[in-house]
Order: sequence, then structure tokens, then C-alpha cells
Amino acid sequence: MCADQNTKTPSASLYIHVPFCRSKCGYCAFFSEPLRPGAMDAYLPLLLDEIGLWTERLGRLRVPTVFFGGGTPSLLPPEHLARIMATLRERFDIAPDAEISMESNPESASLDFLRAAKDLGVNRLSLGVQSFRDEELALLGRPHTARQAWEAATRARSAGFANLGLDLIWGLPGQREGQWLETLRRAVELGPEHLSCYGLTLEPGTPMAEAAETELQMPPERDLAHMYVHTGELLEDAGYMQYEISNYARLGHACRHNQACWEGRDYLGFGPASSSTLGPYRWTNPEDLRSWTELVRSQRLGLHQRETLTPEIRAQERLMLALRTTKGLDLAEYRSLSGANLLTTHKAIIQALRQKELIRIHQGRLRLTRIGMLVSNSIIRALGFE
Ligand code: SF4
Repeated sequence: MCADQNTKTPSASLYIHVPFCRSKCGYCAFFSEPLRPGAMDAYLPLLLDEIGLWTERLGRLRVPTVFFGGGTPSLLPPEHLARIMATLRERFDIAPDAEISMESNPESASLDFLRAAKDLGVNRLSLGVQSFRDEELALLGRPHTARQAWEAATRARSAGFANLGLDLIWGLPGQREGQWLETLRRAVELGPEHLSCYGLTLEPGTPMAEAAETELQMPPERDLAHMYVHTGELLEDAGYMQYEISNYARLGHACRHNQACWEGRDYLGFGPASSSTLGPYRWTNPEDLRSWTELVRSQRLGLHQRETLTPEIRAQERLMLALRTTKGLDLAEYRSLSGANLLTTHKAIIQALRQKELIRIHQGRLRLTRIGMLVSNSIIRALGFE
């Protein structure tokens, strides 16, 4: 388990998965179910029991960050959110300066909900906008319009959120670069502190992946490369710094929760489909409500299908996560984790990648260039798994 640097108390970030959405988006591979009457009421006591179970096992951990993800956490009734926050504060030492983030969707982020969330301590809001073009939102199967997204961002400010993030998706079927940049400029006009810009991935089994086999036309590789590079340029000109392949923030507003996960710190997940990494162990809760319910009731959560992280797995993960960030991989840290010098074991590949200007090595760190980030998966495979 990680230890808080000041107090030496064991610490972990917390993730809470709210597994309900108003409807299912066409590209979504996250675990969520359409919200049915009574489903939240059934979920809440189980979630609170799961939190209690872990604090009985681990004691009172210090918590630097909390993240409500999903699913759609903004579908939580405020009184449910109040019970969850009260339980977290009762059971954990939530740091006074803790980052408490919440994902939310424009159509469910009402002013009342946002005010309640803010009053309960949520201090970072991540709004799922995805596009400011109605035809693209319809194509994605999003349950809101561009106008609703704009209004939700304005409501978030009225509710007092000083740390606002917008999530966007680029590289949609039939999308031209100018259309994507139009969405991005609209997003910048709102002045958020954080922007996540994800390239659309067609996950197998989703309706969009199936439609892409017959009717949808994905943009050519060359256009996708332009969209990615121009995204970084536009956002840097607007005062955002890239800190991960898909994430940009104004100074001091990078998401601390995600950074902790990428840096390999401990995190504890609650709710179906949530993952946890604690010391040498990793596990993922079942991706269905019934199995999760059974495991909570039988108190077997986390003891079931637990993976042990060997030093070799840890080193591979370190490399994979660090290369996604603009800080890059600390080569000395990698050497102490893996016992291997990457510059020697992968000398020929590293030379070739440097010549193609896909990576840079500076002050003991290996980083991907922006073009390198476009082909990050191949580079990570070549350096970490071959
Ligand atoms: S709102 Fe988010 S989690 Fe829910 S279906 Fe859409 S993409 Fe998936």
C-alpha cells in the first residue's frame, strides 16, 4: 500500500462506479445499464456495505483523491450522494485538500444537482460534452444536444465549480478536420480548466463498431493524424498544456486522480466493474450487478480472482502508463523495478524511434513526441512487450 509522504499513514485514491445511464451510447464499452425505477435505491446500500467491508479490512486510509465515474454519476439523487460522501468521510481520512471529481452528463446535470454536489465537497466536474454538433451527437447516440451541453457548462459555473473539465471525442465517422476544430474552439470559448480529447475507438460489440463494418466511413489515417496534431497546437495556443496523450489542462489543473493511477499509486474501487490496485494485488469487480451484489453480500469482494503483480508486470505497466504521459518514463526507476536497462535491452529499436523523431530522451527520461503519441500503442508494444 502507498504511504502518505507526510504522515506515513497508508493511503489510496478512491473510485466509485455508478453503473447507470439514461440510455446506452452507440460507442460505449463501459459497464452501465439503463436506469430503471428502484435501481439506485438497490445499489446504494450495497455500495455503502462495500465501502464498510474494505475499511474493516484495511483500517482508516488517508485519501488524496476521490473520483465518481460511470455510468452517469449525475443521475445519483442528491440524498444518495450525501449518504455516500458521509460514509466516505466517516470511514476514511479524506485529505483537507482532496480532489473530489465527478463525471456528469449535460442532460442530467441540473442546477440543483450541481449545487448539491458542490456543497457536499465535489470540487472538480468533468462534463461529457463529446461534440458541439448535433448531428455528431445523434450519430454517437448521446442523449443531449450541443445547446444542452453548453448550458450545462454554464450551470456548472453558476453552481460554483471553479475546476471544470469537458470531455470531447474526435475522429468520428465522416468527420472532417474543420468540423472537429469547430467543436474544440467552442469548448475553449467556455474556458474550462481541463479538456479530455479522445480519439473515437470502435470497441468490438458496440452498435457503432457493427455499423462501421457496413455503413459508417471512418476518416482516413492522414486526417486523423492532422486532427490530433492540430488539437495539441490549438490548445497550447489557448493556454492548455498537454500532460497525457488525450488530456490537456491549464497550469495546476491536471486531474490528480488520473495522475495517481498513471504513476502506479494504490487505488481502491467500489461498485460493479471498478478496479483496485493495492500493494502487490489487483482485482476488478464483476461487470454485472447480480454477481457484484452476491460478492458484496458474501463479503468475498477482492478475494476473488485476485492477480498478483510481479516485479515484471509492475515494470511493464510503469512503462506503458508513463509513456502515455508527457513526463515520460524515468529510466532509472524502470531499471530498479525491472533490473534491466531499457537503453541496452532495446538499443536498436530506441535508435530507430529517435531517428524517426517518435521519442526523445532527456535528463534520464524517455518521452514520446506528439507524432510518437499518435502511434503510442506500437511504440509501447515494441519497448515493453517484445
Ligand atoms: S453516458 Fe457514458 S457511460 Fe453512459 S452509455 Fe454513454 S458513454 Fe457510456
